[in-house]
Amino acid sequence: MEIVKITPQGFCKGVIRAIAIINKALENPNIKRPIYMLGGLVHNKHIINAYKNKGIIIIDSIDNIHNGTIIITAHGISKKIIKEIKDRGLDIINATCFDVLKTHDLIQKKLDEGYDIILYGKSKHPETKGILGISDKINLIESINDIDNLNINNLKLAFATQTTMGYSDVLKIIEKLKLKYPHIETYEEVCTATKLRQNALIETVDADLYIIVGDPTSNNTNKLREICEKMNRKTVMIENTLDLKNINFEGINKVAITAGASTPPAIVNEIIDAIKTKDFNTKLTDHDYLNYRT
Ligand code: SF4
Repeated sequence: MEIVKITPQGFCKGVIRAIAIINKALENPNIKRPIYMLGGLVHNKHIINAYKNKGIIIIDSIDNIHNGTIIITAHGISKKIIKEIKDRGLDIINATCFDVLKTHDLIQKKLDEGYDIILYGKSKHPETKGILGISDKINLIESINDIDNLNINNLKLAFATQTTMGYSDVLKIIEKLKLKYPHIETYEEVCTATKLRQNALIETVDADLYIIVGDPTSNNTNKLREICEKMNRKTVMIENTLDLKNINFEGINKVAITAGASTPPAIVNEIIDAIKTKDFNTKLTDHDYLNYRT
């Protein structure tokens, strides 16, 4: 069976940078303990568990935290919460991706200029939560159909997106928004890493089976799955080698494999070996999950 490893795939520059920042902090005895992480660093349980095993405490809010250091994840948080953390006298390690910060800055600039904002994102995603925390003049849409429910009368109106949304969906949304609000300024903020991974998958045309590797909570991994399914390709989304047991490879001559931006390369490499050897057990350790070299 032929196995095609689609490139680019897996860890993006934002995730690599965040992991490097945190690994360095863990080695530094001068960083105030305990070290907390506000939400998961990225949407991947193997990485989160590896950090828990290294003593990092994952929290959902800073409500009961009065000493130590708070890690802000690659998805970012609103400036309001950053101020709250500082006001409590807590130290901050900021691992927010530069692409997410760029979107925050754009939206803040437009709000300062008197604009209302329409944001396309997922309500439960930390990046979108962080952006919504900037102002109540940000109107969230989660699908193209939500445009019908918008009722905004500001002539200054701008559209932006969560960085990990599907690029072709974003283009369709912009088209529909321009019909309803011809004066709208549109900023598609899908990050380059997300676009490149989506395009590489679309351009890999002739596989019998597409395997998408990543955590079910990862938005960009789910977008890869959705893209494939919309193209009527035979698609499975799996987390690791153990899930291969559930795949029927009968009649499959060519497999294409890709992974979301938060999926450790070691998992994809092990899956490829497992398909070849039919040994579907995993031997990976925490060190493998946090080692971003491909
Ligand atoms: S997916 Fe894009 S926005 Fe998110 S961490 Fe990676 S590079 Fe940054």
